Amino acid sequence: MVKPFIMGTRNAGQFLYAGAENLRDGGSALDAVEAATRLVESNPDDTSVGLSGIPNLFGVQEMDASIMCGRTLGAGTVGAVKGFLHPISVARKVLEEAPHVMLVAEGAELFARAMGMEEGDLSTDTSRKVYETFVKDAFEHEEIDESQQWIVNYARSQNMREWYDRLADHHHGTVNVMAMDENGDIASAVSTSGTALKFPGRLGDSPIIGAGNYCDNRYGAACCTGRGELAIRNSTARTIIHYMEDGLSAREAAFRAMKDIHALKTYGGMNCIVFDPKGNTVSATTREDRESVHWYMASDMKEPELRTGINVKP
Ligand code: ASP
Repeated sequence: MVKPFIMGTRNAGQFLYAGAENLRDGGSALDAVEAATRLVESNPDDTSVGLSGIPNLFGVQEMDASIMCGRTLGAGTVGAVKGFLHPISVARKVLEEAPHVMLVAEGAELFARAMGMEEGDLSTDTSRKVYETFVKDAFEHEEIDESQQWIVNYARSQNMREWYDRLADHHHGTVNVMAMDENGDIASAVSTSGTALKFPGRLGDSPIIGAGNYCDNRYGAACCTGRGELAIRNSTARTIIHYMEDGLSAREAAFRAMKDIHALKTYGGMNCIVFDPKGNTVSATTREDRESVHWYMASDMKEPELRTGINVKP
């Protein structure tokens, strides 16, 4: 019998305690992933998730989050949500209370307010500084004011892709947390502020079930970080689960999905973390400049363990 466990991305390490404690006390995988993700969202030192997250082009944090239940294949996701401290809990409410899977922008905010979710300002001195530096760097010749004309000019300049590759692609991040509880139920959670200075309304892979997040009790769980556009195009998380369904190991499935990303022949990196119901864990990245790692913590462990994953070459 596999012991309950939780795993997460590099930035989730110290916060897995909360989820492991939950699992130790007989809590559900959904409770465990939500608890650990909330702590990452509250960490002001993490500038890609929750409080102090990276702002969009207007200097505002627009958050994406998703949560999935591997037993029911139910999911809740929110995109481009502003002013709520815990997007992952709003996503959980969507999963449990809404007749929908995905809510975005004003609608998601209205729903979150109706559910009594915690509101708050996500900007900090750090995130304001990040915005000021980016703006100075990217828009030297533009006048940034309250009107939206500058953004129209910017969009018309047709340099958006070049700019995105040069600036935004280097400033992003996401947290992935996935767990299996004592009943063998699996859950997966993803939360992010997305890419730096994203165009307002841009959704990444994180709130898209099948792209940045997927789990199924029968086969395992897979979540992604990296340039979301690539995971959306390849349905990366769902594809990894499909590869495992077809008989590949977690490691082989992650490897193949990263090869699929390379096959897009597009600028930008992708990373994934994966586990199967036997408790085999792996992480993989298309990047060559960084080691792939993930954190693992079984419910009876005293501290999380850092595990090395695989770097997948084109
Ligand atoms: N996947 C996230 C997004 O595209 C960003 C990241 O993980 O770096 O919004």
